Amino acid sequence: MPNKSAKSPRQPLDVVVIGAGPVGLACAVRCAQLGFNTACVDNWSDENGHSSLGGEYLNAGTVATLALLESAKLYYTLKHDINRHGIGAEQITLDISQLIKRKDDIINGLRKNAADVFAKNQILQIHGKAKLLNERFIEIKSAKNSSVSIIESNHIVLATGSIPCQLACAPTDNHLILDSSTALNIDSLPRRLAIIGAGVIGLELASIWNRLGSKITLLEAQDTFLNLPDQNISREAYRIFSGQGLDMRLGARVVATRKSGQGVIVDYLTNEGTQTLHADKLIVATGRKPNTEDLAALEANLLLDENGYVHVDENCRTNLPGVYAIGDLTLLGPMLAHKGMEEGIYVAEQIAGLHNQINFDRLPSVIFTDPEIAWVGQTEQALRAVGEPIRIGTYLMRDTAKALTMGRPEGLVKIITHEDSDTILGVHIIGSHASELIAEAVLAMEFSASSEDLVRTIHAYPTLSEAIHNAAQEIQISLR
Ligand code: NAD
Repeated sequence: MPNKSAKSPRQPLDVVVIGAGPVGLACAVRCAQLGFNTACVDNWSDENGHSSLGGEYLNAGTVATLALLESAKLYYTLKHDINRHGIGAEQITLDISQLIKRKDDIINGLRKNAADVFAKNQILQIHGKAKLLNERFIEIKSAKNSSVSIIESNHIVLATGSIPCQLACAPTDNHLILDSSTALNIDSLPRRLAIIGAGVIGLELASIWNRLGSKITLLEAQDTFLNLPDQNISREAYRIFSGQGLDMRLGARVVATRKSGQGVIVDYLTNEGTQTLHADKLIVATGRKPNTEDLAALEANLLLDENGYVHVDENCRTNLPGVYAIGDLTLLGPMLAHKGMEEGIYVAEQIAGLHNQINFDRLPSVIFTDPEIAWVGQTEQALRAVGEPIRIGTYLMRDTAKALTMGRPEGLVKIITHEDSDTILGVHIIGSHASELIAEAVLAMEFSASSEDLVRTIHAYPTLSEAIHNAAQEIQISLR
């Protein structure tokens, strides 16, 4: 183990992490905590050209989405629901620039926190674009003056994340046609907003702008809605979102777009032929791809697949000795920040020779819509497809007193257990605070709990978490 006091930028460094998003940050901090002489390279610059930690994820990702969604929900409540509480709130106004400023202030605070954590852990922060030359050397082009330098490190961790996929028929211009990052900075309310892709990002953005008052149309190429979650939850989500006014057109593949005056005209193909949609703004949310362009020199021989993902083994090791790749760069798991952060810690501990493991089966997924969707483990459809004998318990949120007091009766909890052992195999939630509720299910599964364990666990009354208890109870009742 290296000496903890050895923190000068002497070379070779022990570890260089490329990328300072949440994934790279988690890895660099754990490396420093373990006593490694650590540097982190990132080329993100703030509006003043200064180095800014947090990467795309913090600066233009889910944190920004969440900040805007909270404002949007509040606005909607004040505008449409507040009178039911007996509170009069006339002349509710909307200042989008203030809403964006609040989001930016939150992000600035988090960036500052990250810088403080770096300083506290004596991590060398390098502001520039890194390129892997081989398994020990990295070329760095300074973000400040474009000067080029080379650093040497015993271990290198690639954590450059992902970027939005471009759609050839809808080239973004950051004004009328936006990618999912610039869509978080729209400065005035579009009356008609079209979104290509009803995946995770498309739905999260739709929730924000729908709650603020835009008329949203989602164009989704697939015939089915939200394939990742359990289909019970997807059906419920479709019903709830339709009720909120989202126009979700499935089997609608966008094939052409053109600008016209102050708007966009979108052509999309359905079973009935070509249809046309007029919108004031268009967001392209058709997936993300690994940010590996120019990450490694050709001579480095870093192995990528045909889609640009870095080839890694189950320990995040690339084909180059001492070089690791984590987060959205690999196909080791879904594109989730917490998956990558866990990998960052895992790699740091691996370098230190510590035993560790990541349980990808216990990885929670969350979609930050209104209401939220969250799940862990397997879906009913996947389990039935392999003939697993299962039991299912469901409980509606509206049957809990807490959901009613909150005025959020929509949604449900669904728990799936093994028919013989009663071990929990999957938990699926749609409803208010699903992202928080899922933590109990993850912990239960981490300890191989059964539905009986959940029922014997005392849940406070009245809370939303009773829905988890009561869904488990449904399974116990079916056993009698
Ligand atoms: P996605 O794959 O979830 O959805 C993209 C959708 O676009 C697909 O359903 C696809 O069928 C559709 N599409 C593609 N081309 C089309 C066309 N021409 N016309 C109509 N529809 C078309 O991708 P995403 O929503 O962009 O998200 C990217 C990744 O980022 C995902 O892995 C996601 O899980 C991750 N992410 C996660 C979170 C979170 O955890 N809350 C937040 C943001 C992103």
